[in-house]
Amino acid sequence: MTKKQTALKVYSTRRNFKVSPEPVAPKRVKKGSQKHPIFVIQKHSASHLHYDFRLEIDGVLVSWAVPKGPSLNPAVKRLAMPTEDHPMAYAHFEGTIPEGSYGAGTVMVWDIGTYYSIKEKDGQILTPAECLRRGTLEIFLEGTKLQGAYALIRTKRGWLLIKMKDEYAHGRKNPVTTQTKSALTGRTMTEILRQAQDDSKGDL
Ligand code: MN
Repeated sequence: MTKKQTALKVYSTRRNFKVSPEPVAPKRVKKGSQKHPIFVIQKHSASHLHYDFRLEIDGVLVSWAVPKGPSLNPAVKRLAMPTEDHPMAYAHFEGTIPEGSYGAGTVMVWDIGTYYSIKEKDGQILTPAECLRRGTLEIFLEGTKLQGAYALIRTKRGWLLIKMKDEYAHGRKNPVTTQTKSALTGRTMTEILRQAQDDSKGDL
């Protein structure tokens, strides 16, 4: 079994797909670096509201939970707690995970797009997979809400998500509080929850 299959095993063992509407993990993942890998940020109203920051690396979505969500201010360091790798299909998952399940609560695709590594070493751009091993990612996001350069840095006290200085940085704007609709469906968290409740009534 490859390392990545082991990683998605964590995803699978935590979930009961008979109960949760979340996507099932594939048996195999396609490793290797993509030319246009995707990123997704999911707003997740679990027991504590947080934003799941996910990067496509080696055929899975490598994930961090960011309690306060991304900032546009380079002076702000956001705590980013590593969580289990998620299957690629999760990037388009919106819905409500039922009470009693792992991660119970509503999930919105808050932002989605592609990204690329801008981390240089000796005149070469390092792949995201190499950056992940080294514990320092520098990436350029091309999303519907977020653009520009971000760093994810492993420190002794955990990972940090930091906006890098560029033309997209801003000292005061906070997209997390001002932009509250899905990048995929335009729905609010309440609308996603209502839809899930209506759908489950239809099943009875
Ligand atoms: Mn989450």
